[in-house]
Amino acid sequence: MKLQSFKRINLLFLTLAALFIATVVSPPGTAHAASYSPIHLLVEDDYVSAEQGEAVVIDGTTYVPLRFISEKLGASVNYQAANRTIQICSPQETEAAVLQISTTNEPPGVFTRKGVSYIPVRKAVEALGYQVDYRSKAPLVRIFLNSATTTDQVAQTHAKALKQNLNLPAWVPKPTPKKPGKVAYLTFDDGPSAIQGKIIEVLGKYDAKATFFLLGDQVKAHPGRATRLAAEGHALGMHSMTHDKDLVYASPSSLINEMKAAQAQIKQATGSSPSILRVPYGSKPYMKKPLRDALVNNNFNMWDWNIDSKDWALPNDPQQIIENIKTGLQHVPKGEPPVLLMHEKQVTLEILPEVITLLKEKGYTLKAYHPEHHQVVNFWNDSRL
Ligand SMILES: [Zn+2]
Repeated sequence: MKLQSFKRINLLFLTLAALFIATVVSPPGTAHAASYSPIHLLVEDDYVSAEQGEAVVIDGTTYVPLRFISEKLGASVNYQAANRTIQICSPQETEAAVLQISTTNEPPGVFTRKGVSYIPVRKAVEALGYQVDYRSKAPLVRIFLNSATTTDQVAQTHAKALKQNLNLPAWVPKPTPKKPGKVAYLTFDDGPSAIQGKIIEVLGKYDAKATFFLLGDQVKAHPGRATRLAAEGHALGMHSMTHDKDLVYASPSSLINEMKAAQAQIKQATGSSPSILRVPYGSKPYMKKPLRDALVNNNFNMWDWNIDSKDWALPNDPQQIIENIKTGLQHVPKGEPPVLLMHEKQVTLEILPEVITLLKEKGYTLKAYHPEHHQVVNFWNDSRL
């Protein structure tokens, strides 16, 4: 782009400019663990002290304060809020240097610390016709236009300053632990059925893990299916023996007996005893306090769900099941991971790739239930479970 006029930028404007950048960029990122080190800065034949403007190398790229570049090099700066860029124009070039403002306020890109905007120096000034000389030993970076003096001569002149220790700038961010990604849980009830093997194959193909709430009598009839589930890294939980609400909910002791019997079958097939269970038809309305107390006293955890696919009721309407899941995803209670209720059904097998893709596109990792990462997901909001 052609530039008509250049004028020296005054400090007030640049202060406003820094504020502008600080406003348009988002809060500092959460997980940047870059390597930072300070570096001496020479401009033309001058040494620039840290008080005048700190230069810093971040992940191999040298950054300098924008203000400093404008003042020392007489460049003008334009801010384009619409496309989040800065244009730097120098008196001797007709092309502007265009720099992207960081969206996270972290390098790479233009970022702001303590009211000072930093720019990647090479990208900024080489486009403006300046030369950048970088000496890793000193370490120093020199910016100059047409100097008769060599960098070594300039360095000689400022030998005393260059011998000073460089202190790490006060704003060096501490590496923060990576924020754990979002997790969603696929759950399949009423198995292990004949179709389970195909469900497992699809899950494997998409590198997704799931949780299967199994009926004890089904496990007893097909222990190999439960064994395979465990072997492939899926989680197993109890879903009673009989699935008969008149029996399961008859009393606290019948509930516990159903779950313990199912747990014993799983133990026999897999070698481990899960603590997680899901009661038939969900915990409302049957799981009143005495029944929940019984689960707590027997060290069980109980999961309902927060997304009902209704796959059991829609064997011929796969599209509606997908819609139910999409709608459900928008209404997951705050603080809970999405827990999808599905069943070992033919229609569920058919839509499974689409469901997994949908969740992955929304940034979810599909994991199996793990007791160490237990979160409360039940209709009674009973935090004991
Ligand atoms: Zn069920």
